Amino acid sequence: MAADARLRTVDEQLEIVLAGLGSIDPIELTLLDAQGLLLAENVSTEVPLPGFDNSAMDGYAVRAVDTRDATPEHPVVLPVVGDVAAGATSRSGMGPGLTMRIMTGAPIPAGADGVIPLEDTDRGVAKVAIRRPVQSGECVRRAGEDLPAGAPALGAGAALGPQQLALLAAIGRDRVIVRPRPRVLVISTGSELIDVGHKPSFGEVTDSNSYLVTAAARDAGADARRIGIVPDDHSKLLDALESQLLRADVLVTTGGVSMGAFDIVKQALSELGTVEFTRIAMQPGKPQGFGHLGDRVPIFCLPGNPVSALVSFEAFVRPAIRKLLGKRNLQRATVQAVALERVDSPAGIRQYRRGVLHREATGGYSVSLVGGAGSHLIASMASSNCLVVIDEEVTEVVAGSRVTVIPLLLANR
Ligand code: AMP
Ligand code: MG
Repeated sequence: MAADARLRTVDEQLEIVLAGLGSIDPIELTLLDAQGLLLAENVSTEVPLPGFDNSAMDGYAVRAVDTRDATPEHPVVLPVVGDVAAGATSRSGMGPGLTMRIMTGAPIPAGADGVIPLEDTDRGVAKVAIRRPVQSGECVRRAGEDLPAGAPALGAGAALGPQQLALLAAIGRDRVIVRPRPRVLVISTGSELIDVGHKPSFGEVTDSNSYLVTAAARDAGADARRIGIVPDDHSKLLDALESQLLRADVLVTTGGVSMGAFDIVKQALSELGTVEFTRIAMQPGKPQGFGHLGDRVPIFCLPGNPVSALVSFEAFVRPAIRKLLGKRNLQRATVQAVALERVDSPAGIRQYRRGVLHREATGGYSVSLVGGAGSHLIASMASSNCLVVIDEEVTEVVAGSRVTVIPLLLANR
């Protein structure tokens, strides 16, 4: 139960956000540009894999029957009538009682039905002594044994990791239709803000949120861009948003959403009537705006304190980006960790605290808190590697008990 009946829960707000997302038209990308994305077509192969019968070993191609009587003491000696290397473009052939030296991956000559590995021979050049019988089919990779021609290779919805990209390349696809990365544009609002690289005068604050949110959006899989700073000015904000609308699948602003007289984002966008400003039963991140601009471009208006912006991003924007990517699992993985200190939390509020997650020698996790409850603390946010989640109904976590932790893993992009 929320302490304040007017507060919406995090889960309720997330449901509204997710229901308010459309889908982005699939696009065609080259293989490496498609890495990490979900396939938006069913792909079948025109060619068989492997494309032709070929040798699994370096050795000698033989007719199995010719080697039937071979033993280490009495090897079968056969004349070597040629070499087949990988890359041979015409099929060679050999008659009964003969062999050809063959490399791994080279086409099996017509007339041969097995390969004796080099190590089971005397490695002869003009003739070769074979020290054991070869089974028919031995060391032969059959055409189509991996995937026959015409077979489905990958289905729509498949995630394209290195293995899947390898398969697409192997069957000759250089481009595929995928769910694209949502284009996320990030704007910081606040008349106190200046761009990084300028020395702040008294009262000025260097914009860090746009870096935080743009990086977090990229980390979530978006094609995110930092648009920059807009002052607390009604028409400048609307102009900035309007000029970006055609380029965006998602807009994110930070700042200007609380109750203050200068909270221009809230005022300006409330008037449009398509963005709703609500108070959520969470801490930090209580004031939130979400809605649509233009041709239903979703817009998130996050609070301006950097920690609030991060927590709000994690709670609402990240799952939205993942949904637009087509991912089934929208939430980050959590772990249970032993709290190393006591934490109090207001009833009815989901509290997110920054923490440092430790892996214990015994295999479990423990977590300590950093930064207190202040959501302006950027340095302590930078020293954290996780969020500790204290659920709505929990008012006290005693030291030594278990808490839910969201590790904020560094993505390799
Ligand atoms: P607001 O949500 O606009 O009331 O801002 C709350 C606090 O966050 C204020 O102290 C702002 O100066 C600070 N803040 C807002 N936007 C940013 C930003 N882009 N970078 C760093 N701090 C910010
Ligand atoms: Mg502000």
